Amino acid sequence: MSQTLPAVLVIAGLDPSGGAGILADVQTISTLNCHCATVITTNTVQDSSRLYQSNPVASDILEQQLRRLESDFHFSAIKIGALGSISNARVVAQYIQQITTQNPSTAVILDPVLKATDGNRLSHESLIQTLLDEILPYCTLITPNEPELLALTGHSSSQQAVNQLASLGASVLVTGGHNRDSNNHRLENTLVIGRHQQGQSQQWSIPLINGEFRGTGCTLSSAIAGYMAHGHPLTEAIIHAQSFVSHTLENAYTLPSGQRVPLRSATIPTT
Ligand code: PLP
Repeated sequence: MSQTLPAVLVIAGLDPSGGAGILADVQTISTLNCHCATVITTNTVQDSSRLYQSNPVASDILEQQLRRLESDFHFSAIKIGALGSISNARVVAQYIQQITTQNPSTAVILDPVLKATDGNRLSHESLIQTLLDEILPYCTLITPNEPELLALTGHSSSQQAVNQLASLGASVLVTGGHNRDSNNHRLENTLVIGRHQQGQSQQWSIPLINGEFRGTGCTLSSAIAGYMAHGHPLTEAIIHAQSFVSHTLENAYTLPSGQRVPLRSATIPTT
C-alpha cells in the first residue's frame, strides 16, 4: 500500500543560487518527510554572494496557481516567505483568509523576509502594511529576527514591537541568529503567544555556531511548518525545528562566495 505524507505549501521567492528562499524551504520540508508544493512570488537575480534584482511574478499567475492547488490538496501547513509586491501580498492574503476560515487547523508560518542575506532589499516598505493588516491576523506564527521586528513595527524597543505584533493575533518567535557576535556564544529565541493563540511564552538559549550562513531563517520557519504538518503543537514544533537547524548548521557546506549553507538533508528527523 502506498503511504501518504502531510502536504505543505510554500509561497516564497526563488533564490537561483539555492542558498535561501524557496529551494531552502523545499529541501527542509522534504527532509522532514512532507510533500512540498510551491508557488513562487518573485524571481530574484542572485548569485552566492549578492542580490541583484527581485522580479515579482504576475499576480494573476500567482492567484491561478493558488486556486488550482486549493481545489486539489489539503495542506496541513503553509509557509510564507518573501512576497515580492503589494499585489502579490494581497492575493496571498485573500488565499490565507479563505483557507484558515475553511480549515482553522491549518498552521500558517510567516517568515517576514524584508532583505536578502546580503542586506539588499527584497520587499518594498509599503508592503509591510499589507503584511500586518491582511496576512498576519490569519497566521499561526511569525518568525522575525530583531531587525525585522523593529522594521515591521517602527518601534525602537523590542518589547513594544513584540507586543504590537502579538496583539494582531499570531504568535511571535523572535530569532536571535542574526546577532553573531554574542559574548557568551549562545543565542536567544523568544516566543510570545499571540492574541488568537493558546500556550505559554518561552525563551530558548541555543549554542551559537560560528560563521556566516545563508538561508537559516528560511530553514527554521520551514522546519516549524514541517513539524506542525506532522501534528506537533506550536511549541513542540519550535523545539524540534531549533534542533534541526543546529544540526544543519553543524554540517553546513561552502558556496563559491565562502558563505556557508545549512545541510538541510543531513538530519534524520523526529516527525
Ligand atoms: N527568500 C529569498 C528569495 C532570498 O533570496 C533570501 C535571502 O537571500 C531569503 C528569503 C531570506 O534568507 P534568510 O533565511 O537568510 O533570511
